[in-house]
Amino acid sequence: MPALEPPAAVRTTCPYCGVGCGVLATVANGRIEIRGDPEHPANFGRLCSKGAALAETLGHETRLLHPEIGGRHVSWDAALDHVAAELQRVRDRYGPQSIAFYLSGQLLTEDYYVANKLAKGFIGTPHVDTNSRLCMASSVAGHRRAFGADVVPQCYDDVELADLVVLVGSNTAWCHPILYQRMQVARGERGMRIVNIDPRRTATSEAVDLQLSIAPGSDIAFWNGLLIYLSDAGRLDWRFISDHTEGFAETLAAARQCAPSIQAVAAATGLDEPDIERCYGWWAETPRVVSCYSQGVNQSVAGTDTVNAIINCHLATGRIGNPGAGPLSLTGQPNAMGGREVGGLANQLAAHMGFAPEERERVRRFWSAPNLVEGEGYKAVQMFDAVARGEIKALWVMGTNPAVSLPQADRMRDALGKLELFVMSENVRSNDTVAHAHVRLPAAAWGEKDGTVTNSERRISRQRAFLPPAGEARADWWIMSRVAQRLGWRDAFNFYGPADVFREHADLSGYDNAGARAFDISALREIGDGAYHSLAPVQWPLRDQAVGTERLFADGRFFTASRRACFVPVRSAARRRPVDRPFILNTGRVRDQWHTMTRTGLSPRLSGHIAEPFVEIHPDDAARLGLAQGTLACVETDDGSATLRVLVNRGQQPGSLFAPIHWSAENASSARIGALVHGIADPVSGQPDSKATPASVSAVAAGRFGVMLSRTAMPAAGLLYWARARFQHGHVLHFATAGTDPIALPEGDTVTVEDTHSGIFRAAVFREGRLEAVALVSAHPTQARHDWLETQFARDAISDAERRLLLSGRPVAGYADQGPIVCVCFQIGRNAVCGAVAAGASSTSAVGKALGAGTNCGSCIPEIARIIATAHADSAVAAE
Ligand code: SF4
Repeated sequence: MPALEPPAAVRTTCPYCGVGCGVLATVANGRIEIRGDPEHPANFGRLCSKGAALAETLGHETRLLHPEIGGRHVSWDAALDHVAAELQRVRDRYGPQSIAFYLSGQLLTEDYYVANKLAKGFIGTPHVDTNSRLCMASSVAGHRRAFGADVVPQCYDDVELADLVVLVGSNTAWCHPILYQRMQVARGERGMRIVNIDPRRTATSEAVDLQLSIAPGSDIAFWNGLLIYLSDAGRLDWRFISDHTEGFAETLAAARQCAPSIQAVAAATGLDEPDIERCYGWWAETPRVVSCYSQGVNQSVAGTDTVNAIINCHLATGRIGNPGAGPLSLTGQPNAMGGREVGGLANQLAAHMGFAPEERERVRRFWSAPNLVEGEGYKAVQMFDAVARGEIKALWVMGTNPAVSLPQADRMRDALGKLELFVMSENVRSNDTVAHAHVRLPAAAWGEKDGTVTNSERRISRQRAFLPPAGEARADWWIMSRVAQRLGWRDAFNFYGPADVFREHADLSGYDNAGARAFDISALREIGDGAYHSLAPVQWPLRDQAVGTERLFADGRFFTASRRACFVPVRSAARRRPVDRPFILNTGRVRDQWHTMTRTGLSPRLSGHIAEPFVEIHPDDAARLGLAQGTLACVETDDGSATLRVLVNRGQQPGSLFAPIHWSAENASSARIGALVHGIADPVSGQPDSKATPASVSAVAAGRFGVMLSRTAMPAAGLLYWARARFQHGHVLHFATAGTDPIALPEGDTVTVEDTHSGIFRAAVFREGRLEAVALVSAHPTQARHDWLETQFARDAISDAERRLLLSGRPVAGYADQGPIVCVCFQIGRNAVCGAVAAGASSTSAVGKALGAGTNCGSCIPEIARIIATAHADSAVAAE
């Protein structure tokens, strides 16, 4: 009998960060296998922990499966008719500008294209913005000021070709893990240096050559200081400056005013002078230098200026557009760049065109648009402010959760109640935003949808479907096209598939272009359905297939009117720190979660690393405020408050706090960090300043702390604090109570152990011999692990004799307590890593050899490095 062919793997792209890794997905016998695509040029086969766990996030239990109006299941025809009729009604009554679209970097380019065309060309509203506004709008604005176009000049190969990589405001190890690993390989093999400029010491700091823990908000002084250093050291490229740029003299003068000397930079940034000098010296003497910047730069009131301060240094040395030399913006989301290509931001029109009369006329002609908008629309925060004012009457949100992610999120969430029409196209049945929608449209999710995304290095990759849509879910481009047709624009939205949309998008990119606009993929404008289906990852610009992708700016020509790059003079701005809010609240991501956890929160593995919302605080601040590790703290700002676990961490600067953005009302009692973020935005880009909200922090007294594992999710009402996560057989509820009231347990045979003196209470509940729930409660926050108890849920029966043993607080015989999970891929805990280090493994590769930890996705390598460093430091102290 001939051997059965193995099932074919579908090539697709990871839906999380802007690295844009290629994925091979195989479905066989109801099982989904996910692997890295060895042929994808972003990752060459590797995936980080989030990408590797994608198969665990594809269940239907949380999915929105049917269209709903007012919570009632309706047919697609009824839903689309209703949306079209209501949009028409609102438009007729209040005018087109009363309608807004809020999109997402999770959408595919084809979805984005249709949304933008419908809103800006046909409905006639300019109010189209995207959650990418929260992520990279400052980079867009900085690029446009410097280059005349939103162009990321460099690509990932450059970080490997560089001799020096400077990371600015980026926890790359956690937020762009595969790119970080590529850097680390180059560092190991070629001796490339890495400098990390970040107020926090993060996982990224574990493997760099210089950590610069800069004072929050002082980046402009640092980069202006570098420009002065380069000038004074005779390291400027005068030929490049005179032949290819403009505005240098004013920029140098502004920089000298801001940061005239190393001493001035030290005073502004809080850095040591020798460290500054070392970094400047390396930068000056290293022609191949790449500066990578991310949210720490973008999410700032001076984000655009900081981007330009960085670019100024590259222009002044001619280090741009060359192999291994140039600025590289690291995009947060998988298709933030694709959204920018089609004009998904309120201050763009389409295909990198703006609102100049000739650009408007060109787009109007191309679309045959009856109602082309005249100018820019509201940016994200402005848009929701307009909702709050009652000016926007109809809002269509797609694939994002603004009630959690926007700044002043409580106010923004409450504003949704003012809408006359609130439509959501969404994957999930429930999140903080969906709850307010009048119309819920089930959108196809990753694995079901088909189209393209563009990563941080301008590389367009295909996302391909390998699963049937859940329930009645449909592609976003299809949903909008069908609404557009009902509104009377049948011909303009007569798309029959994503390839059809892509061809039009590619055609527009080259329309009347002739090299004037950077974004041009017109070589693909006639791509057939088959070629689109098999399209390999490709970078833009791509005007001519025969020529291929050109290296941008290598010829010293930019996209300004003069074809010269522009220096932008920038100065530091003073920051306000109110007396009653003595801390600066910084926000960001953790290693294994994505955005508001609607997908990654479904994976038990991904909750193994960090299961609860937390606030990081420096030990001195913690001691002063009486905040011990694992206790609870209330973090308060002028806009909101949250109750979070305390994580005392020396990597945090005194006076600074850090809290992750992922938790929502769905999975924690009070951890909606967006609600704390102030509404201040960068005046140029409109990007919210999410990294520096004035805050205060205080201890929260709790009666008892506990954790409950249960097969079904337990109610959390009445608890002082709670956070939910998943484990393989059910739900984990971390909690604290205000007093010492009894803990609510599920029904069943219950055994308990209680010591009122120490406050310990443990209970196990059984049903039909199987373990139903376990609760471990203590008067104090405890680091006690419950991994071994999780394994008991797999057993069909637990004998009477074993039942009390479960409550002994010690793992059952034969179970090795691993401690907190470090390596998610192989489920290897801290204790196992420490054991390997104690047994002589003195490098991350030696630990990998001994345990396998860090040898798959590599996301945990920085943490393993930290464990090794701590062990070495401890043994050095012991030896003294
Ligand atoms: Fe996905 Fe991780 Fe690659 Fe980002 S680095 S695209 S999250 S696999």
